[in-house]
Amino acid sequence: MAWMLRLVKIGVEGEEPCTDIMEIRRPDDLVDIANLGLTLAEAKLLLAGVQREIVAAQARSHAVRRPECPRCDGVCRVKDYRDHAVSTLFGQVTLRLPRFRCAACSGIEAGVGWPPRCRSTPELDRLQAHLCALMTYRTAADLLEQMFPVDAGKHHETLRRHTLKVGEALGDYVATRSETAAVAIVVTLDSTFIRSCVEGERHLEVRVGNVETEAGGRQVFGAVAKAGTDIRALIRRTLDAVGQTEGTALTAFTDGCPGLRRILADAGVSTPPMLEWFHIAMRLQHLKQIASALPVDAPARVEAKAVIVEEVERLHWRIWNGKAQDAQVSINRIRAVRHHFQGEPDQRRSTAPSRKLWTALHALDGYLTGQSAWLVNYAERHRAGLRVGTAITEGTANFLVNRRMNKSQQMRWSRRGADLLLQVQCGVYNGTLGSGFGQKFHPANDLCPPVAIAA
Ligand SMILES: [Zn+2]
Repeated sequence: MAWMLRLVKIGVEGEEPCTDIMEIRRPDDLVDIANLGLTLAEAKLLLAGVQREIVAAQARSHAVRRPECPRCDGVCRVKDYRDHAVSTLFGQVTLRLPRFRCAACSGIEAGVGWPPRCRSTPELDRLQAHLCALMTYRTAADLLEQMFPVDAGKHHETLRRHTLKVGEALGDYVATRSETAAVAIVVTLDSTFIRSCVEGERHLEVRVGNVETEAGGRQVFGAVAKAGTDIRALIRRTLDAVGQTEGTALTAFTDGCPGLRRILADAGVSTPPMLEWFHIAMRLQHLKQIASALPVDAPARVEAKAVIVEEVERLHWRIWNGKAQDAQVSINRIRAVRHHFQGEPDQRRSTAPSRKLWTALHALDGYLTGQSAWLVNYAERHRAGLRVGTAITEGTANFLVNRRMNKSQQMRWSRRGADLLLQVQCGVYNGTLGSGFGQKFHPANDLCPPVAIAA
């Protein structure tokens, strides 16, 4: 069997001569299921063929429009033709467009309404940036090449360059003020680190945040420290975008880093930020895992382990219920039975369960002491229907940064490169990049509120 794919243009005068795009051949039988329907390769050829024909027709009809001379009222005549290569999602196309010369003053004019330095379509730029926000430049390049008949921008370096350009443009983006005023807004500001590619510089600090309104509106923002993007301005812009007014009640959360509290204050968030429950819950979970891994190879250890597991639970309860000042009681009780787990062969090593328990307990103790002023009664807030942190269950930093700029993948970043990519990521999630990408993460993350970690 064979089909001829034919494109018929309908002009003002009706049907015009048609063009053959491609022939599709298929075996008559379906012995091999692989012969069912179109293959990806054929689909790509088809798309590229249709694209070429449509673009050629558009270029022809564009070329007959003559510009007016801006200097005199002379008539413009075609001087010569120039080829313009433009990358599209469906292949590279070449537009033959005329240049004009004014018959009276000899001035050269480009065609009507043709952007002089256009090398790609906005749709391609957007899709490239979108994919690069979610996966590595290399994977994004591979994916595009697999799925679409793209000829240009297949190299990951090209994709990176394009994406950073989009990030730059997003930096200049002016947020539209929300038309509906928000009654209450929750602001979360966190920090995380990524590896630097610059010699002598190990890590880059990334600040990320998230604002949520009671009506379900959400925007994320982020900036790499000292990279040129002003995080304070971003926070103000984001608050504007979700409808902050004089009467809006603000609630702020941080991961406890003092620098972040200063940033929030500078950005005009004057309510003292609370320590987000997520960060405490993570530490408690770590402690619980260690406690449950303690060996029970002797009766004394069985007993001691039961005490430790119970006290860790009690510690959780105390902090959740705003009684962090009593945490020391639990910590002392754990300390009192800890000697049962000493004397392991590898006890000196940091991987020994007793050592790990001690380290984690010590870290939590220090954390609670340092953060005591910012701890609240989380249980009471929760019962009152108030937030104890962001609705992004994995935390904004994990969601926005660690997934894409992951430390475990050994990725190294330049300050500017990471900062601009972050702007693209936020653009994708906020829906400011392109038109229909926004709020991608909404349903998936709202299913289980942070309480899931608390319970
Ligand atoms: Zn002229």
